[in-house]
Amino acid sequence: MLDTKETSVSSVFPVEHIEESKRPEIDFANLRFGDVFADHMFEIRCRNGEWSAGQIMPYGPIEMMPSANILHYGQGSFEGMKAFRYKDGEVNIFRIDDHYQRFANSCKRMNIPVVPKEVFRDSIVQLVDLDRSWVPDDHYKALYLRPFVIATEEFLGVKPSRSYRFYVITGPVGSYYSEGIKPIRLTTMPDYVRAVKGGVGDAKVPGNYAASLKPTQIAIDEGYSQVLWLDAMERKYVEEVGAMNMFFMLNGKLITSALTGTILPGVTRKTVIELAKKWGMDVEERLISIDELIEGSKNGTLTEAFGSGTAAVISPVGYIHHKGQAIELNQEKMGPVAEKLYNTITGIHHGNVEDPAGWCTVI
Ligand SMILES: *Cc1c(COP(=O)(O)O)cnc(C)c1O
Repeated sequence: MLDTKETSVSSVFPVEHIEESKRPEIDFANLRFGDVFADHMFEIRCRNGEWSAGQIMPYGPIEMMPSANILHYGQGSFEGMKAFRYKDGEVNIFRIDDHYQRFANSCKRMNIPVVPKEVFRDSIVQLVDLDRSWVPDDHYKALYLRPFVIATEEFLGVKPSRSYRFYVITGPVGSYYSEGIKPIRLTTMPDYVRAVKGGVGDAKVPGNYAASLKPTQIAIDEGYSQVLWLDAMERKYVEEVGAMNMFFMLNGKLITSALTGTILPGVTRKTVIELAKKWGMDVEERLISIDELIEGSKNGTLTEAFGSGTAAVISPVGYIHHKGQAIELNQEKMGPVAEKLYNTITGIHHGNVEDPAGWCTVI
């Protein structure tokens, strides 16, 4: 109803409109992350492998039986991406097809019927178009998009569900850096692991996060913001952080952990690697031991560390603790490589830097 702009987006799915938009009640100047949701959501159901007709409806509670598989055994998967506003008011979605590809892989790993690509794309595009007044215009803000699938069969046996539902919900989010970019502090947690080879560490699925909450709380209580996960076998190689992949500037090279099967293949990670290679930097995807980083911090060859992920884009790391040893980075200030990547990627999001490879889908 607030949307007066003509668009070329075709309406694939029927829409049940919200009676009154919640948009005027939202304080767009003070957005945080993930606690405000836009007016509409998308739902489509799947039974015995057959997808029903999907529909867009007002954002609201969903009903399912208390015995639904997702509530007990966690058969589900999700994605996280963002829509941004260009200076001229146009709205775009960043790397939607890369997110679809990863979503399809997560679904396969969880034995969930893969949501068809057209359903994923068309539902997200139509939903963002419908709620486009919810896409903030501020350079540091975005509309966060959360597609997810859940197993809903009413059955307590441990077996793949026969019914599923795919939803898309969206919500405006603020910058992680409302008070300027402040590097975060991490600690390893050698008594806990996030993922093992052959497990689900490379899929975006609920259990990975549930299992991380306890060690993360311990890290927070000790004054760190997140856990830097080490590999499960040797507890020696650096993997990733909560919802970010890790990068280090070591000996003038940009290095990141190889995708060994236990690391989530981030779309931002891929973006960072592609940009750095385009700039002529040496980029290595390989095993990185924590001892190598400690050594590099002692002899001055480790100059920067930062995380990459959709939520924060680039998050500089100022300090890493490991078994009583400290890795201090760039006097706990944002380094030049992190800054250039942050400015370039957010520039592409908002149309201030040319989109190098058709990453943005303008809607
Ligand atoms: C989502 C996520 C990332 C970052 O992926 P992006 O596609 O860049 O947002 C990294 N690690 C984990 C565990 C994640 O869940």
